[in-house]
Amino acid sequence: EAGEISVKDIDHIAKTSFPLCMRHLFEKVREDHHLKHGGRMQLGLFLKGVGLKLDDALAFWKAEFAPKVSAERFDKEYAYNIRHNYGREGKRTDYTPYSCQKIISSTPGVGDHHGCPYRHFSEENLRAALVRMGVSSRAVEDVMDKVRNRHYQLACTLTFEAVHGSSCDAGINHPNQYFIDSQRILQ
Ligand code: SF4
Repeated sequence: EAGEISVKDIDHIAKTSFPLCMRHLFEKVREDHHLKHGGRMQLGLFLKGVGLKLDDALAFWKAEFAPKVSAERFDKEYAYNIRHNYGREGKRTDYTPYSCQKIISSTPGVGDHHGCPYRHFSEENLRAALVRMGVSSRAVEDVMDKVRNRHYQLACTLTFEAVHGSSCDAGINHPNQYFIDSQRILQ
């Protein structure tokens, strides 16, 4: 079970404990002050699973979008979906974060940043992202080998092991599991 986090924790835990799919979305929302629907769903539900409460989620997205989206427009166009993800609107379903399988089988279009980088990035972009995560060049080759054989979750597992210097015997099958296992090692 995840604990509780607040908006000010996100920067730090993104660097230490987010899997590449979520790091990428977080970097993009920082850069662009916007994310399309698929990215907001994938990152938003992940953050909910990490322990971000509804009010903090609203504050986070509002602040990230602020350079481009006014407070009124945010409340009108984006707040509903965030409350919806937390089961406070519509059918009141408490939506769960996406699994690796669901993310890997998604089909991001042009301008989308959701999906699994091991599956959806070009080789060049993936290599660069791994280097930015601090993965050694030898480990990068091992990861790329798994990617070529379409073992995306194994590629993510090798990345986890490389950045934590610790084994992950269960393998990665959910971004929130990656986060929890990472926090367990770091704490
Ligand atoms: Fe994210 Fe799973 Fe892909 Fe890792 S394997 S980047 S956790 S979707």
